[in-house]
Amino acid sequence: MYKAFFSQDFKKHFEKLVKRDSALRERVLVRINDMMEDPFRNSLELTAAFKGKRRVYVGKAGYRLIYSVCKECGGKKSKNHCSDCDSKGDDAVVFFDILPRSIAYESY
Ligand SMILES: [Zn+2]
Repeated sequence: MYKAFFSQDFKKHFEKLVKRDSALRERVLVRINDMMEDPFRNSLELTAAFKGKRRVYVGKAGYRLIYSVCKECGGKKSKNHCSDCDSKGDDAVVFFDILPRSIAYESY
């Protein structure tokens, strides 16, 4: 079982997105909970500036969860912006952001 951690950006954007959408809130939380069993399922590894991070889609509207699995951070910690990996342990999954599909894919 993995453990979820959330960046300030994630918390801020999540609260904004689900403010008037409790169904989406529920869907995202259920998905994150599922991911704690296998954070690699249906996951795509990102490239270029976001190498080391992953994304999954959630919900019909296709929100993207941007995250990394600390097991994979290894020497790539600075790229993952995951500087405190060591204190979190290998079972940590760090969520960096949640983005609507309307934001250009290239930005993540
Ligand atoms: Zn990490």
